[in-house]
Amino acid sequence: MKPLDLALAELLAFATTLAPAESLSTFDADGRVLAQDLLSALDVPAHDNSSMDGYAVRCADWQGADTLLPVSQRIPAGSSGHALAGASVARIFTGAPMPPGADAVVMQEDCEVVEGGIRIAAQPRCGQWIRRRGEDVAAGSVVLQRGTRLSPASLGLAASIGFDRLQVAPRVRVALFSTGDELVMPGDVAPADMKPGAIYNSNRFFLKALLQRLGCTVTDLGIVPDRLEATIDALKGASQQHDLILTSGGVSVGEEDHIKPAVQALGTLNLWQIAIKPGKPFAYGKIGAAHFIGLPGNPVSSFVTFLLLVRPFILQLQGANSLAPESIALRADFDWPKADKRREFLRVRLNVAGRLELFANQSSGVLTSAVWGDGLVDNPAGQTIAHGDTVRFIPFSSLLS
Ligand code: AMP
Ligand code: MG
Repeated sequence: MKPLDLALAELLAFATTLAPAESLSTFDADGRVLAQDLLSALDVPAHDNSSMDGYAVRCADWQGADTLLPVSQRIPAGSSGHALAGASVARIFTGAPMPPGADAVVMQEDCEVVEGGIRIAAQPRCGQWIRRRGEDVAAGSVVLQRGTRLSPASLGLAASIGFDRLQVAPRVRVALFSTGDELVMPGDVAPADMKPGAIYNSNRFFLKALLQRLGCTVTDLGIVPDRLEATIDALKGASQQHDLILTSGGVSVGEEDHIKPAVQALGTLNLWQIAIKPGKPFAYGKIGAAHFIGLPGNPVSSFVTFLLLVRPFILQLQGANSLAPESIALRADFDWPKADKRREFLRVRLNVAGRLELFANQSSGVLTSAVWGDGLVDNPAGQTIAHGDTVRFIPFSSLLS
């Protein structure tokens, strides 16, 4: 059994970035990975401008609270003024460029409008309420780097420097199937009619959703029966036209587990079993040009191994430069008195005290733990945990986007 870090490094070494990049409207690029550096051709903002509705002034013109300053021009957003006439102010609105000669803005709430101009009670501070040219983005700088996973805010930033289209990594084409003769699709059989031993296929639902969140196009190949020939046929078919084949179940060592011999019959098996809990069964191989990843059947094992291994693999196929989230140091509000030989990923929830609570049942079959939880505690092999200990926490929010 491989330690996780080693297995992940080996796995990532197989994940060559896919090509060619595609050009997308910036509107459609949320969640995709940028395949170019975005260089800004301009300063943002392009001019010093007002951050308030008010009056642009020259501070030296203020001679005390009774100074009367006439309004010599009006500058709405979208227009530009001209040099500020001596001993006057410019009416100015948020976002409008500062007129040359003005060195502060007084917000309108702090001005008294009187016959012939305005009065300002308090002395203006030089530079106040001015947004400086280039304070957001400097011309010539790389605003977003190749490999950045685009977020809504980054789309806005790209647009702010004039990009209406972006080069992004292609979608990863994934063939997904579940193995297991016990599996039944919800909708096909009503709960009251489920035969003894039958279970609903839950993995298929979260795996598909997880893949879609990573921008993959998913071909759902359904449920493959627990027979070697059927497994070989399914894998062979899926290896055409897909970058990755992802399966769940059948990857252990029982007689009903056919994934390993099927992959070996068609291609190579490069990785096998990882020293984590949940999730020991895990397989990586290649079938023709397609990558193959076999996840465990137990739902929580499947879920956790996806987040820890498949997610970074898929991000790397897209050339992303940030693959695995950093864990956060937090205190445990629970005891975990029995250490395990394997590194464990416990389902926990953040409480109002900012500490972590443990879901009572950590069985790899109990999917409720993953819904109840806010994330995982990454607990090293051989480690017990007592109330108040500092542990490493990985929030689901950073793993599910
Ligand atoms: P396996 O890895 O095939 O030995 O399966 C391990 C456990 O996970 C068994 O209890 C299976 O019934 C269960 N399991 C396998 N595939 C799924 C699935 N797609 N949805 C829910 N449970 C599954
Ligand atoms: Mg099975």
